[in-house]
Amino acid sequence: RGNAYLERQAARESNARTYPRRIPLALQQAQGVYLRDTQGQVFIDCLAGAGTLALGHNHPATLEAIRRVLDSGLPLHTLDLTTPVKDRFVEELFDCLPEPLAARGRIQFCGPTGADAIEAALKLVKTATGRRGVWAFSGAYHGMTQGALAITGNLSPKQPFGGSPGDVQFLPYPYDYRCPFGLGGEAGVDAGLHYIEQLLDDPEAGVLPPAAIVVEAVQGEGGVIPAPWRWLQGLREITRRRGVALILDEVQSGFARTGRMFAFEHAGITPDVLVLSKAIGGGLPLSVVVYDESLDAWAPGAHAGTFRGNQLAMAAGTATLQTLRSEQLASHAGAMGERLRGHLLQLQRDHACIGQVRGTGLMLGMEIVDPEPPATRTGAHPPDTALARSLQQQCLRQGVILELGGRHGAVVRLLPPLIITAEEIDIVAERIERALRAARL
Ligand code: PMP
Repeated sequence: RGNAYLERQAARESNARTYPRRIPLALQQAQGVYLRDTQGQVFIDCLAGAGTLALGHNHPATLEAIRRVLDSGLPLHTLDLTTPVKDRFVEELFDCLPEPLAARGRIQFCGPTGADAIEAALKLVKTATGRRGVWAFSGAYHGMTQGALAITGNLSPKQPFGGSPGDVQFLPYPYDYRCPFGLGGEAGVDAGLHYIEQLLDDPEAGVLPPAAIVVEAVQGEGGVIPAPWRWLQGLREITRRRGVALILDEVQSGFARTGRMFAFEHAGITPDVLVLSKAIGGGLPLSVVVYDESLDAWAPGAHAGTFRGNQLAMAAGTATLQTLRSEQLASHAGAMGERLRGHLLQLQRDHACIGQVRGTGLMLGMEIVDPEPPATRTGAHPPDTALARSLQQQCLRQGVILELGGRHGAVVRLLPPLIITAEEIDIVAERIERALRAARL
């Protein structure tokens, strides 16, 4: 569109740019679920900082909290020293945690990103158990640093760096639609749990017991795949019985997005280690690990970092967590998610290229397939990446920003701000429908 900002971006910025390739916008203004670009087009933002902006853009509570810090004379840089703002943030976060984590949890501030917190979690469990191995799941996404890449269950981003650094064993994730065992539903859940149990118990399997198993309760980047709650309960049981720590990566699924404060609460389990980022900083960079006090085996200073005290992020985070609770946004996200899912299921009935609609709360996905080739035993058709990309572009033309994910980039992911209204949900669905018709022409 001859946009000078985009031209200068392409000229100066690294080829590693990710979002600008498929979402070629220069942004100017934002409020709530709406984003306006420099050319005046308004979009409904169903990406929301990759699930970061729980309260949407520029929520008054977040802005007010940031302004209060700026006007208070508080040092903005504090390393990991404490302040009244940090103290308040920790209080608020612990008020959001279910028991027994609220009573037994320890918090560690990490560098500002989700990947930083993943690195800390991996080092923590290795320190606490004296074991080196970590088990992770196919299709998982945990970040782009080397340790986080090692447990990311997708070869393409890590192949140039020597495959899998570290002692990592991958396990099949319970992806019902393309089940690794060729089984759907309950049989797939049983087979998956049985496989993990055997690997842990059979010395002939050739792997040492791990320090931890790390899992997303809902795979996000991997294609919005919720783990069946019974499978998570089984995984919790299996790890508890063998003294293997269970790390839940709720960087994306945490903080009311799935209709509960944390996705693991749907399964009624408690992780040993909880990895949190994105929404926790109200749009500013912040990440933490919360873990059971029995794992606190660090030597003092064993995991350092300069940027673990972002006061603005903590203030914005406190305001976000307060608002999530006072406005009951977890149940709102659950209700809005059901409404959007209803629309998407209707679209699926009308369009054979929608293979599966899935997700929980406002973390929803739609797998785009080629319906011509016959389905597998679990009813899956081959992914149609080209159609998914075309759909994304058509959505953009209709004024909806959304992202793709999944192993073949063929899953449309919807992560709108949790404050989205029923009317806005209906508009998003109408626009997706129009985009679908245009993409299939
Ligand atoms: N874990 C999960 C589940 C994520 O979705 C992401 C980011 N999409 C990360 C970790 C990494 O976070 P960051 O990009 O902040 O490093």
